[in-house]
Amino acid sequence: MSAQIIDGKLLASQVRTEWKQRAARLTEQGVRPGLAVIIVGDNPASEIYVRNKVKACGEIGIHSEAHQFSGTTQPEEVLDCIQALNQNTHVHGILVQLPLPLHFENNKIITSIAIEKDVDGFHLYNVGALVTGNTNFAPCTPFGVMTMLEHHHISAEGKHAVVVGRSNIVGKPMAMMLLERGATVTICTSKTRDLQYFTRSADILVVATGQPQMITAEMVKPGATVIDVGINRLPDGKLCGDVEFDSVKDVAGYITPVPGGVGPMTITMLLCNTIIAAERVHQNASV
Ligand code: NDP
Repeated sequence: MSAQIIDGKLLASQVRTEWKQRAARLTEQGVRPGLAVIIVGDNPASEIYVRNKVKACGEIGIHSEAHQFSGTTQPEEVLDCIQALNQNTHVHGILVQLPLPLHFENNKIITSIAIEKDVDGFHLYNVGALVTGNTNFAPCTPFGVMTMLEHHHISAEGKHAVVVGRSNIVGKPMAMMLLERGATVTICTSKTRDLQYFTRSADILVVATGQPQMITAEMVKPGATVIDVGINRLPDGKLCGDVEFDSVKDVAGYITPVPGGVGPMTITMLLCNTIIAAERVHQNASV
């Protein structure tokens, strides 16, 4: 039997319609949500991501501004820009597009963002908040995955969730969020011996490795929920995930496609976090 497809594009559009109304209500009350995106260097993929984020903001009624720096910019200049944005009352969310050039220390830049404007949830304070169950801003990709699970009434409680990948932006926060929902969580990495042993016992399998189609049908438990975070470009120019979709869909219970799965949800959750940040400012001003 073929798996049920978790359509991220459709869900993202439903979530955006709902949140557009929240943004409009806030704007009517005098607080238009605002997002500032900082991009350093001329990474073509980053430029596309930033363009998509700015476009998505416009569609949902969020004010957005992109601050572009050349690859030879010194970190101090970016830090000054972040300090100004921290003070800017029209900006409720600040995002630094990663990766940064090698002469930048990621943590120094990210921790200069005001905690209440860190809509990516990468500030060390917000990472600590997430780990201790006091989430301030959930990182957008795992937040999107949790929203997909919730929408399809797939509970994590009591399930074995296996996350393949341990990056700070996807794998680790994903594992923490599943743990928070009561799953028993295993994190696998490139060092894991006998990966299939773990993936085959997963009720919920989240894959974020950047290795095209590495998860094949025999690595998946029949009926499992398979979430493919990977976005890879094949030599023929087509996009694919970290999961071999065509074979795994015949084994899994639920599966996300690439494209049209987790990707559209990630940007959507960024918009939600920005609106949440603006709502908090409005609430604080009203008390
Ligand atoms: P990273 O490169 O930062 O991390 C990849 C992780 O995968 C590492 O922990 C690595 O292990 C692990 N890994 C690599 N190869 C294997 C393997 N053969 N077996 C088991 N584990 C392996 O990537 P990101 O987390 O940033 O991104 C992962 C993928 O998700 C990429 O394709 C990226 O483009 C995509 N992505 C998609 C998003 C979306 O919105 N859909 C958002 C963000 C990312 P180790 O630590 O041991 O090296």
